[in-house]
Amino acid sequence: MTETSTPATIEITRRELAAAMGRGAMSKCPNCGKGRLFSGFLRVAPECDVCAEHFHHHRADDAPAYLTILIVGHLMLPFILGVEEVFEPAMWVHLVLWGTLIPAACLALLRPIKGAVVGMQWASRMHGFGEGKPGSDA
Ligand SMILES: [Zn+2]
Repeated sequence: MTETSTPATIEITRRELAAAMGRGAMSKCPNCGKGRLFSGFLRVAPECDVCAEHFHHHRADDAPAYLTILIVGHLMLPFILGVEEVFEPAMWVHLVLWGTLIPAACLALLRPIKGAVVGMQWASRMHGFGEGKPGSDA
């Protein structure tokens, strides 16, 4: 009598990266797209209030701030140089104009970028988001 053994297989459901990042950018749960991702302006909720997906695994750290500065800097620099080249305004105009627009742009982008980073981590099963499954580092 021969005994055949099959290796244990664990099915891993595929998580769509673009959809998860988009849901996160819209401050929605990357899993269901309905629950809230944030419990404060930048505080990530411990879990989804609809599907109970845990969010405490996220390690966004400085990535959202870094990406926000990178994007805002690249978006604003041509306008700053263009305004200086065309209008040559006084320095106080630069201070008022860019001192208002740059922080406003950073505040507008920081939360969507953080949500997208958390969504990316969730879709990639990083930091325990794939808990108990191969490939996770939990
Ligand atoms: Zn959810």
